Amino acid sequence: MASIKKTDKTHMDYAYDLDLVIRPDSTVPVLNREFGAFSGAGIPLFSIGGGVFRAVLSDILVNFHARRGYFIADTPLIASSNLFEVSGHLEFYRKNMFLFDIEGHDFAIKPMNCPYHILIFMHELARYRNKVKLPFKIFEVGRVHRYEPSGSLYGLLRVRGFTQDDAHIITPEDKAVDIVVDVFEEMKMILENVFNLEVETKDLHLRLSLSDKSLIGEEFMGTLNEWIGAENVIEEAASIIEKKYDVSYSKEEGEAAFYGPKIDVVMRVKEAGIEKEWQLGTIQFDFNLPRRFRLYELVRELYGDINIYIIHRALLGSIERFLGVYLEHYRGRLPFSLAPLQIAIIGIKSGGDYDNVIEDHAFTLANMLINKGFRIGVKITNKTWLSGDIRLLETTIKPPLLVFIGESEIKGKFVTLSMFSHNDMKRKKYRIIYRESFTEVLGELNSMIEELESGIVKIAGQIPRIPMNLSHLL
Ligand code: ZN
Repeated sequence: MASIKKTDKTHMDYAYDLDLVIRPDSTVPVLNREFGAFSGAGIPLFSIGGGVFRAVLSDILVNFHARRGYFIADTPLIASSNLFEVSGHLEFYRKNMFLFDIEGHDFAIKPMNCPYHILIFMHELARYRNKVKLPFKIFEVGRVHRYEPSGSLYGLLRVRGFTQDDAHIITPEDKAVDIVVDVFEEMKMILENVFNLEVETKDLHLRLSLSDKSLIGEEFMGTLNEWIGAENVIEEAASIIEKKYDVSYSKEEGEAAFYGPKIDVVMRVKEAGIEKEWQLGTIQFDFNLPRRFRLYELVRELYGDINIYIIHRALLGSIERFLGVYLEHYRGRLPFSLAPLQIAIIGIKSGGDYDNVIEDHAFTLANMLINKGFRIGVKITNKTWLSGDIRLLETTIKPPLLVFIGESEIKGKFVTLSMFSHNDMKRKKYRIIYRESFTEVLGELNSMIEELESGIVKIAGQIPRIPMNLSHLL
């Protein structure tokens, strides 16, 4: 991973520059402050860029998971509090929940997606019996709300409303090790192909949170056998991952949640010379939910004498939090496919005979790119203003791709490209030459972009295209 120099900007400044979020704590224009206040403390309001970022990322995640055999869920934000009574959330998690009463009935805003996913599984079982294949995997880009004290809120890193790339897996015991290894590999695929993170496996570490065996039945629910079984699965999976990918792991006894052991994946990164730990995915076993929803009995009735595990897993964790850490680490540089503004086309007039052609070519290219599904912006400037305009672009919206069209470009029949690379945190310059018609540029540009996006196509099958003209950001 590239080493990063220190700047004064925080992740929220970057998010604000990129038009990803409306910054509620900003001291700049009053209009922004008031919009921010509308969404409430700790509940980030996504801006125009943030909206498109979330839509593109969700689409990639949904396609990726569907291709990996997950079913896709989309569950409501609000449920009767009975659901959370059954799941045990009201008992164990009440102080973090938003609860309210309507017409004498109690409702809750979901703090987690799990109870709904279990309901969907039960619905499938009721309807299709043992035709439902195990492991059963269900995924959702799920928005949850949890109460956090106002003093602990911080930008996108600690919020009261966030979105999880959340899945639940109900697996027979004998498939559980493979499932855990699969989930680790899925996380690696997403980081490398969607976020251009060069995941050096030596920088990754698995933290296994296990029980304290002397406290089973007291602090840790369930039976000794259940814990031994699940912890064996976790350790076996960790040692397979260690051998296959050279990723170290450590065991922390007594650190498990009361309802089951887990694996947290952390990445060690260097920022401004300081070692930091970047919390990535989590894989969590649960003995509580299957009991509460009587899943053990239900599964045995339909599938015979098998033991199952319920696993919660998130690859990025909270998308908001991940975005915050990512923006800070890469100084506000999003990968091409996720950037709100992907391509800025800059026409540079010089006051000569070519000015009309320059402008014409800039808008022609912009229209062609929008028709191809890209998010673009056009800026017509001149030589005097050029460096100031670029500086502004590079400190605010940061388009991954810049296209320059000026007098020398028109005369020489080419366009100049400047493409940002996450690997060395620098821009690289290219030239696309055309022979007959300017429209030839599009084909060449397309193949460069295809190359940039090939990772996502490989894992998600396609790239979501959400075309936009964002010239007003330039
Ligand atoms: Zn869950």
